[in-house]
Amino acid sequence: MNKRQLVAADCDVTFDNLTRQLYASDASVYQIEPVGVAFPKSAQQASSVIMAAADAGVPVIPRGAGSGLSGGAIGDGLVVEFSRHNRQISDLDLEQRTVRCGAGVVLDQLNTFLKPHGFCFGPDVATSSRATIGGMIANNSSGARVPVYGTTADHVVSLEMVLADGRIENVGARYDSLGAERQMIAQLVQRHAAEIAEWMPPGMLKRWSGYGIERFLREPHDLTEIFSASEGTLGAICSAELNIVPRPREKGLGLVFFASVAEAMQATVELLPLQPAAIEHIDKPLFDQTKGQLHFQAARDLMELDTKPCEAILIVEFYGDVAERLVALSAMRLGLRTLICRNQAEMNLVWAVRKAGLSLLTGRVGPAKPLAFIEDAAVPPAQLPAYVAGLERIMNPMGLEVCYYGHAATGLLHVRPVLDLRTATDLAKYRQIADAVSQLVREFKGSLAAEHGVGIARTEYM
Ligand SMILES: Cc1cc2nc3c(=O)[nH]c(=O)nc-3n(C[C@H](O)[C@H](O)[C@H](O)COP(=O)(O)OP(=O)(O)OC[C@H]3O[C@@H](n4cnc5c(N)ncnc54)[C@H](O)[C@@H]3O)c2cc1C
Repeated sequence: MNKRQLVAADCDVTFDNLTRQLYASDASVYQIEPVGVAFPKSAQQASSVIMAAADAGVPVIPRGAGSGLSGGAIGDGLVVEFSRHNRQISDLDLEQRTVRCGAGVVLDQLNTFLKPHGFCFGPDVATSSRATIGGMIANNSSGARVPVYGTTADHVVSLEMVLADGRIENVGARYDSLGAERQMIAQLVQRHAAEIAEWMPPGMLKRWSGYGIERFLREPHDLTEIFSASEGTLGAICSAELNIVPRPREKGLGLVFFASVAEAMQATVELLPLQPAAIEHIDKPLFDQTKGQLHFQAARDLMELDTKPCEAILIVEFYGDVAERLVALSAMRLGLRTLICRNQAEMNLVWAVRKAGLSLLTGRVGPAKPLAFIEDAAVPPAQLPAYVAGLERIMNPMGLEVCYYGHAATGLLHVRPVLDLRTATDLAKYRQIADAVSQLVREFKGSLAAEHGVGIARTEYM
């Protein structure tokens, strides 16, 4: 590889060992050293370095904060890093409800900017303090409130892209760019319309393994549908015009406690007619990590976790008509007991436990860790009880501890078997589980990658 070609580009490029090690990992289980890391300050600089990489025959890996869980932001080529710069927010239009963001803008930064205007960005990833807008679009990230806001792709109006050959193009419904490519994709997607309808039936709110072909079928003029969720494989996002939404005026939160994960899944199906903004599931392996932690004691006391044991909890949130819906929730008498939060402070305590979920889990002591590799599968919500039964059939005979948490309202459970990948036995189990779960998800016509991306972890199953 000719490094000189990359250095000659009008962009900061670094090849030192420390930087390459720092960018060799993301939040996945993988580690791959890049040849170098570029830090563009603008679309022109990104174009210059991507063109140089193409000339030198070096693959390009666009990267945001590196919080992705599937290994999408690492590779043995040139990492093009958008989070150091590209943090401008501009063109706020409150009438049209749109704003423009550089790819490196972090979600919390955007929401802090929008708050005084009474607006926010709808999709709410748990990594909001780190995740960049570029990474969120590329993974079509979403969060707990998908029933209300949908996913990131639903809020993309237009994108400023740098393509693999260095061209800078604006794409979106009002742009006429990339006409030939658009036509080709439209024909391809049309040709497979029946298959897409069969494998991507309506009713799955989180279903993003790669390109949004079923969205493009509905919106054949809008290439943002294809670029969103493309995980950096079709080009680099330099900036985006996004839709924003008014902040909710009224929120309410209820908790339901269960003796088993299976009962919590059954209750999720029963709760859906109440049209909650979110139904989040956490289980004992997760909330047990808060034991003895001063920071979470108030939340534990509120949930009475030390005195009234349970195996699983559903956190049910409502936006609007809160009083009636919380009464309806209590009247359902689900599970072991119900708790209604009385004020915002109590809601914050509960959300802090849910938001810290993954960090709590991965912080567990010992060499075996709850691993992310089947953690992003979603099935139609009504199938959750049968899906969990299927998972238990696969993993219970292996005698594994498994953590189930996630976005139950949309059928997405972050399932993490606890494994020690330094042992041959657990490595074999890892492979066995990955194969069996991909087959199980297929049986439910679900999606193996609902919001965390396909990345390295799931490409072989697509
Ligand atoms: C603790 C934890 C909790 C999480 N919770 C959630 C959650 O609630 N919901 C959710 O959806 N995800 C969640 N994630 C996954 C992750 O945080 C999101 O996918 C996030 O949006 C990724 O943003 P990033 O900036 O870190 O992207 P990166 O990890 O840097 O990149 C992700 C992908 O996007 C591509 N990419 C990045 N920037 C660009 C760009 N400018 N142009 C083109 N492609 C680009 C990369 O090549 C890669 O394929 C969680 C992860 C962790 C570790």
